[in-house]
Amino acid sequence: MTDIEKKQDRAPVAKDWTYAPAPESREIVRIAERYGHFVGGEWLEPSETYETIAPATEETLASIGQGTDEDVDRAVAAARNAFANGWSALPGSERAKYLFRIARILQERSREFAVLESLNSGKPIKESRDVDLPLAAAHFFYYAGWADKLEYAFPNRRPRPIGVAGQIIPWNFPLLMLAWKIAPALAAGNTVVLKPSHTTPLTALLFCDVVRQADLPPGVVNIVTGFGSTGAALVKHEDVDKIAFTGSTGVGKWIQRETAGSGKRLTLELGGKAANIVFDDCALDQAIEGIINGIYFNQGEVCCAGSRLFVQESIYEPLIAKLKQRLATLRVGDPLDKNTDVGAINSRDQLEKIEELVQSGIDEGAEIYQAPCRLPEHGFWFAPTVFTNVAQSYRIAQEEIFGPVLSVLTFRTPEEAVEKANNTPYGLSAGVWTEKGSRILWMVQRLRAGVVWANTFNRFDPTSPFGGYKESGFGREGGRHGLEPYLRFDE
Ligand code: NDP
Repeated sequence: MTDIEKKQDRAPVAKDWTYAPAPESREIVRIAERYGHFVGGEWLEPSETYETIAPATEETLASIGQGTDEDVDRAVAAARNAFANGWSALPGSERAKYLFRIARILQERSREFAVLESLNSGKPIKESRDVDLPLAAAHFFYYAGWADKLEYAFPNRRPRPIGVAGQIIPWNFPLLMLAWKIAPALAAGNTVVLKPSHTTPLTALLFCDVVRQADLPPGVVNIVTGFGSTGAALVKHEDVDKIAFTGSTGVGKWIQRETAGSGKRLTLELGGKAANIVFDDCALDQAIEGIINGIYFNQGEVCCAGSRLFVQESIYEPLIAKLKQRLATLRVGDPLDKNTDVGAINSRDQLEKIEELVQSGIDEGAEIYQAPCRLPEHGFWFAPTVFTNVAQSYRIAQEEIFGPVLSVLTFRTPEEAVEKANNTPYGLSAGVWTEKGSRILWMVQRLRAGVVWANTFNRFDPTSPFGGYKESGFGREGGRHGLEPYLRFDE
């Protein structure tokens, strides 16, 4: 807080609210200089390495193993061995104990994980601390509860584990995506080989420590790090029974082609271009918060981000005015600062992709507004951005930007809103803001999206299934539905 304004008969008030830095300490985290692959409960020395950095500063954090075909092969063999020699035959109540233990350890070590996640991914500490970590632990708790109840979850279907699951995850929610993948797979009695994104391997590697602490039998969880080629080796491996992938639609399509005819089970959670639809009878201030959360949460690097805002014409002007006011209050900067709302972009590549798409928006004729903020000199940053005067055909209204960039469009009637919202190759999520319950139900029945939030956005819960339609992929994660892709049924 800077100057204090003193007026007679009134309590002193701040002229200008600024925040003193409140950085979370890095002391709690110990990062090794070099990491290998976690295979069969041991660290496997990598033949090649690359360096992982902190996107906020470009500082090198550690050397990471670049997984080769041989590394993947050893990890799959370890997973197969663990599956065949104990894990799949263990009673569900015993598997549950391990999952409960993992959940508890994640809770106990949550600060350490949150700091590491923010360092390596660039996301604000308040998000990793208050969203990623609690949800990751909640996923293990939730699926621990199902492990001994599979017969009840799928009555008369004799659920059995599939075998070895190959799991490939992206960089936007590194630990949370790991939890979404590993918890249901283990609860169902499978073993896993997981490849984190090459830009954010550190929390997955710290998770290996949790696996050991929980005394999980060796080989049940294996982590092989590396670039896309490591993921491709996992996809192609003949002894993998199932692939679970979260990432871009392009890579998802390649995986689908590659696994076709192989007998491998497949689930794909791909991109999105969610419509956040605001009707004129909504609670406007609440909707503004939902819009902000929808697109600037995790720098907009969220597959279900509300990146297309549809505003009913009658409230367009007041809404835009309020949105710009709110945008000006977002604090962009050090991910480890507890006051930060918008952190660093995950990588130079991602920043360049955002910049290219934003330039296309300007070139095509949209009007750009950026929050007045000073971006740090080092690292990868992009100011929260709003585009108005956007036509449906513009690339910024069609393509996934995966950054803090909102495209605003308008509509007059609910029918028009539905038609425009569904006019995308994607179908992952949507939001509806209205005071009318009947209108919510009407909209939900017509929106082609796996998740529709009403008067809220980006709300996640392990009990609730999540997944897409069309080019957003297929298969569901979360809830009882999330167990099904990890089970076969002897019907
Ligand atoms: P990718 O789809 O390339 O990456 C996702 C994961 O797949 C990473 O672990 C990646 O490894 C791995 N991978 C890459 N190529 C292959 C392959 N041929 N076979 C198997 N695995 C592979 O996404 P990007 O990180 O490159 O992001 C690009 C765009 O994708 C983003 O701009 C965004 O639009 C979208 N995206 C969507 C996500 C979602 O949740 N739906 C998440 C992330 C991105 P590595 O990272 O080491 O290359």
